[in-house]
Amino acid sequence: MRVGMPHMGSLYIPFKALFQRLNIDFVIPPLTNQRTLSLGVKHSPEGLCIPFKLTLGNLIEVAELGADTLLMPGGYGTCRLGYYAKTQEQILHDLGYNIEMIQLGVSEHKLFGLLKLIKRVANNAPWSKIISAFRFGLSKMNAMDRIERAVQKVRAVELVKGTANQLFARAMSTIDNADDYRTLKKVEADYIDQLNQVAKDPEARPMIVGITGEFYVVLEPFSNFDIESELGKLGVEVRRITFISEWTKFSLFLNPLGVNEKDRIHKAALPYLKRDIGGDGWESVGEKVLHNKEYDGMIHLAPFTCMPEIIAQNIMPSTKENMPVLTILCDEQLTKTGILTRLEAFVDLLERKQRLGNNNRQRVTA
Ligand code: SF4
Repeated sequence: MRVGMPHMGSLYIPFKALFQRLNIDFVIPPLTNQRTLSLGVKHSPEGLCIPFKLTLGNLIEVAELGADTLLMPGGYGTCRLGYYAKTQEQILHDLGYNIEMIQLGVSEHKLFGLLKLIKRVANNAPWSKIISAFRFGLSKMNAMDRIERAVQKVRAVELVKGTANQLFARAMSTIDNADDYRTLKKVEADYIDQLNQVAKDPEARPMIVGITGEFYVVLEPFSNFDIESELGKLGVEVRRITFISEWTKFSLFLNPLGVNEKDRIHKAALPYLKRDIGGDGWESVGEKVLHNKEYDGMIHLAPFTCMPEIIAQNIMPSTKENMPVLTILCDEQLTKTGILTRLEAFVDLLERKQRLGNNNRQRVTA
């Protein structure tokens, strides 16, 4: 059995660690690139959202490399995600790939469902081995996200632009190569330390911009032209609550115990939207309300044709919270120049608001 799955940011690193420890032949497709997009667009129904197209491109590339068992996230809910795996399996079969598609229904089956699925692809390995491999993969995921949070802060104020990104890339590759907990802990501490040492502009008072929107386009830099790095170059500090480690912590461990991290966000959205509309639309509205006084502005990433985010996009301008929100529709027509022009204009607008003294963020003065 040769196992493959689509990319989403650096998620392949913890999965690689998990599968290596279980001696599973894990095939990693090339990082999402222009060819992935072309393959996905060519073989997808036109109106489908960009997460479908990019993940299909990844699956085709991993099947080309010989993977025969493909893992694809999916689940119940109001949006099209529930149909992805079946539709993509059919497309791959029509293209002549002899693959088996396994849907990862994490939202329904939670931790036990996921572990059972890992047991199945691990040829019925003992539970102790599965749990130990799973724990190590989770530790890598947590370390990666802690470093990324530090990077988000440094990018905005570093004197030599690009330094934090270089450290981030090196940190990801070192974490990928770490074989035990001790090394992993050391790598995390070393890189956080190096990020703290980066030369920073002492005069910088960065704008704070939140990133919200649909899960995949928020977490896959190829789909959004690495928007967080571009904002960093403009001297903006990015805040984001969506991290794969947070999602895992709540979805697999805390939600089944009745702890729902999204209750606060849903409550904030209630005056404008009273129920789940699928995907992450309810959360996008709630985040605008919740962070109105913490952020100078918010960027809302929405896949073109994504129903939940279209609803959110239409509600956000009518809330009484007046934080500026820039919605960026992500699809195969989005270009780097297009996104940069909009970002520059948006940051100009936020700076002007600040100069005129009517920005919404409550600044704490020392
Ligand atoms: S939330 Fe939107 S983009 Fe994501 S799968 Fe559903 S419809 Fe597609």
